[in-house]
Amino acid sequence: MNKKLIIDPCAHCGKSTAFGYGKFVNRIGYDDGWACAECSGYECNSCGKDIYLDEEVRDKDLLDYHPECLSQELWHEDYLEEETV
Ligand SMILES: [Zn+2]
Ligand SMILES: [Zn+2]
Repeated sequence: MNKKLIIDPCAHCGKSTAFGYGKFVNRIGYDDGWACAECSGYECNSCGKDIYLDEEVRDKDLLDYHPECLSQELWHEDYLEEETV
């Protein structure tokens, strides 16, 4: 019966977003609760890892990438386009 109470849990990962848990500063409202910044960000289309909130960049197809992953992708694309001309 001694259930640990999680204060303001993230709607996605269930970790507390309350003050003192490291996720407080960047938490955002989600439905009736909260979501932490890690979970609220997008998944990188290149490496598949979560992108921290507001740090995603999009290519012309509106796919989400880490800035460094997108520059790599673009580098490949340029390369391929040159190859096929
Ligand atoms: Zn979370
Ligand atoms: Zn990435």
